[in-house]
Amino acid sequence: MKGFFLGFFLFTSMFYGQAPYPTDYFRPPLDIPIVLSGTFGELRSNHFHAGIDIKTQQRQGLPVYAIGEGTVTRIKVSEWGYGKGLYIAHPNGYTSVYGHLQKFSPEIEAYVKNIQYQKKSFEVEIFPQFSELKVQKGDLIAYTGNTGGSAGPHLHFEIRSSASEMPTNPLLHGIEVRDATDPTLLSVYAYPLSGNAQVNQSQEKIKLKYHRQSDGTYLADKVTALGTIGFGINAFDRQDLAANQNGVYSVKQIVNGKLYTDFNFETFSFTESRYINTLIDYNHYSTYRERIQKCFKDESNLLGIYKTIYNNGKIEVSEGLSYNVEIDIYDLAGNLTKLVIPVEGKLEEIKIPKIEEKTDNYIIAKKPNNFDLGAAKVYFPANTFYDNFYIDLKNGQDTITIHNSKVPAHRNFTITFDVSKYTDEERKQLFIARLDNNRSANYASTYKRGTTFTTRTRDLGTYTLAKDTVAPQIRPQNFKDKQWLTNYSYLSLKITDDLSGIDTYNATLNGEWILLEYEPKTNTITYNFDDLILDKKQCNLKVVVTDNIGNSSTFTSTFYRK
Ligand SMILES: [Zn+2]
Repeated sequence: MKGFFLGFFLFTSMFYGQAPYPTDYFRPPLDIPIVLSGTFGELRSNHFHAGIDIKTQQRQGLPVYAIGEGTVTRIKVSEWGYGKGLYIAHPNGYTSVYGHLQKFSPEIEAYVKNIQYQKKSFEVEIFPQFSELKVQKGDLIAYTGNTGGSAGPHLHFEIRSSASEMPTNPLLHGIEVRDATDPTLLSVYAYPLSGNAQVNQSQEKIKLKYHRQSDGTYLADKVTALGTIGFGINAFDRQDLAANQNGVYSVKQIVNGKLYTDFNFETFSFTESRYINTLIDYNHYSTYRERIQKCFKDESNLLGIYKTIYNNGKIEVSEGLSYNVEIDIYDLAGNLTKLVIPVEGKLEEIKIPKIEEKTDNYIIAKKPNNFDLGAAKVYFPANTFYDNFYIDLKNGQDTITIHNSKVPAHRNFTITFDVSKYTDEERKQLFIARLDNNRSANYASTYKRGTTFTTRTRDLGTYTLAKDTVAPQIRPQNFKDKQWLTNYSYLSLKITDDLSGIDTYNATLNGEWILLEYEPKTNTITYNFDDLILDKKQCNLKVVVTDNIGNSSTFTSTFYRK
């Protein structure tokens, strides 16, 4: 495979016809070999992955370098999402993004801390003046970490177009990852799409059998069908240096030699990312946690990832005709896994009829829909849903059930509970909770106005009024009251809440606000002694934590330092 790096860039630009990206402008963000635990465009929950996840040898604190000269345009510190994130705009029109950082370089860290102390907030979003924080290619900018919505130490890395903010595939910019391994095909499904369509005597989708041929391609058992049908696949890509199951780069569907479907993950926009729920078979995913990518495009699917889409990728099968359907699955290095499905047009007796569960209420997706369920009212704006469907609505004591989680919502809808039967005191402790599959209550952002509580959500399921009467708990982790802490570099405390969850956390030392770094994954707040020079021997610490409905706890402690 000598020279395959050069090869695949030629290959990809020739075959995918994408905009040319400079492949020698940037350096990698880390000095270790680039091994990925996530690829660009990988299918995630309600979004496509907008960058690559670079493995950091199961540890934190690896130096992160600017991939090119530029100026820091944005710094965000958040408990969620990218955690500590840094954005650098480069003169060539791209912005690099580094996420889940442990901390920034000393210079940037001091800049950020200064603003955190000014704003008295751990979470900040900063847009430095242009050229205020300039970097050269290869400058240390940060250290890798695990902050925000990260399930283990890694660097989330993106390259966006500075003008459009559309993320582009970082590997197209010359970030090298060894990959000579073909994508892996896990399963293939056939979908009868038109009202009268059938596949293998079924009006419901059906899983196909296939076998590996001596030339390495896969051949499916012959499919009999009639009407409009489509196919879907579940596949992953593995690269050479890790066992991780990452996303594939491109899928093509060719019918009797004609290209019907061609989509790839060169780029997409954040605004369209949620339409992933129309690319995958959402109902199947919600039931089996398996993501089938459809080779056909639903009417409600507004994704721009398609380079070619003929007849929306749907195949019209006529009696007596034969069709050769080929599905080609590529990774970015150009490795190909090919599946051939022979289809014969044939009317057969239906053994698996279409199942449609009817209810009293039918949703027309393009229109707004209003329901009064007694305990609460539900308002779905137009286009909340992708498709029309029979919605299942239930009403109970302070509880409503809005269908189930097998139907995806694209937009927020509104649930309004009537709380007029409760006293003011009770209303203070009540909030709207969503019950998960284990029937445990999760706080839903509750807007309280007079005798109504409202929440906006995109999750179907069961909602109820829950009561939180217990204030958060605050427990010191690495120190005790009245202790000498001269050699300590940080203070650590555990904060937990039984129900509605932590909302605010604030602390003072001898009356002055101090920065607490909050890590929700470990329920930990940390104060770093480097932050504030303490000239007093006796330090009085006060920590105040509130939960989402306003229950508050205060912790005080005195310690000594020389
Ligand atoms: Zn990531």
